[in-house]
Amino acid sequence: MTTDKRDYYEVLSVGRDAGADEIKRSYRQCALKFHPDRNRDNPEAEARFKEAAEAYEVLSDPEKRQRYDQYGHAGLSGAGMHDFSHMGFNDIFSMFNDIFGGGGGGRGRMRGADLQIEVGLSLADVAKDVEHTLEFERLDFCESCSGGGAAPGSDRRTCPTCAGYGQVEQNSGFSMLLGRVVTACPTCKGQGALIVTPCPKCRGQGRLPKQRVLNVKIPAGIHAGQAVRVRGEGEPGGQGGPRGDLHCYIRIEEHPFFERHNDDLVCRMPISFTQAALGAKVEVPTLSGRAEVTIPQGTQSGKVFRMAGLGLPNIRSRRRGDELVQVVVETPTRLSKDQEGLLRAFADTEDKSVLPESKGFFDKLKDYFTGNGTDAE
Ligand SMILES: [Zn+2]
Ligand SMILES: [Zn+2]
Repeated sequence: MTTDKRDYYEVLSVGRDAGADEIKRSYRQCALKFHPDRNRDNPEAEARFKEAAEAYEVLSDPEKRQRYDQYGHAGLSGAGMHDFSHMGFNDIFSMFNDIFGGGGGGRGRMRGADLQIEVGLSLADVAKDVEHTLEFERLDFCESCSGGGAAPGSDRRTCPTCAGYGQVEQNSGFSMLLGRVVTACPTCKGQGALIVTPCPKCRGQGRLPKQRVLNVKIPAGIHAGQAVRVRGEGEPGGQGGPRGDLHCYIRIEEHPFFERHNDDLVCRMPISFTQAALGAKVEVPTLSGRAEVTIPQGTQSGKVFRMAGLGLPNIRSRRRGDELVQVVVETPTRLSKDQEGLLRAFADTEDKSVLPESKGFFDKLKDYFTGNGTDAE
């Protein structure tokens, strides 16, 4: 890296209060202006191109930008900066792949592998747009060699096969028919240079498993098994190819009260048989707190009460579903003497058979049957 660096705002010709979009636009213009394809064998353009990439890396990252604003270039030591001066064009293009629309030129560049990660959400998370912080390990550029694979400070030597062009003309029978057939150089794999001393940290691979922390926006109303794709957060591509994508698969944690039915939430609510028979106001849980449901007199077990708009938002229309409260009438399992007496008195008013309370009951029953002359013997 050069020691006397230019001011990053100056490099990108933007004001100190420039917004993210302006910075992105300006960097794109700089990068296209000093693009290696338009400036063949122009070291000045190459330096400008790399300088712009470095400026963009800092000014597009709120944390790095703040450090730079506060402390200047010195504030960025140890901020995880890429060493662009030692990076190949293709690596730079793939880093800012989204800006260059996946382009950047070059043949035989392989897109990096896609990665999958599982994201666990609560139903309360599903109710609103959330930003989820993910932490995962992925294969990433080696910082020690900036992804180049060469030991820091070591030289690369020009590839003897392609003389640094990264491409070779294939001499096959087809060239008679097809004219020139150009492919990526097999010796340097299109890099144009060979590593003399491999980077000891990544053993010349240019990449290492690294921890990545990423904030991912998850839209409200998402369903279990759906995935949010984050472009360019997969593994880096081969030979400076674009990064793959990260797919965040959604898992939804069980809720103590609610079951999800599309955008509706179903809550099974136990009520006592006296509440069911006489009517009651009962408190029910909602996703955000509590609500009251009026149970009318004579409510049957299994009856559903609908509370409009207390469900989950639809992922497309964002219209909220309902909360459905299904009451389950519970029969008491232990009765006090008084309660039992009252219930028996009640049972007497019904034309229903109930189990006896004592042995004496059977005797009464016998008398009753014989007295009535029924045919039960
Ligand atoms: Zn390395
Ligand atoms: Zn070569």
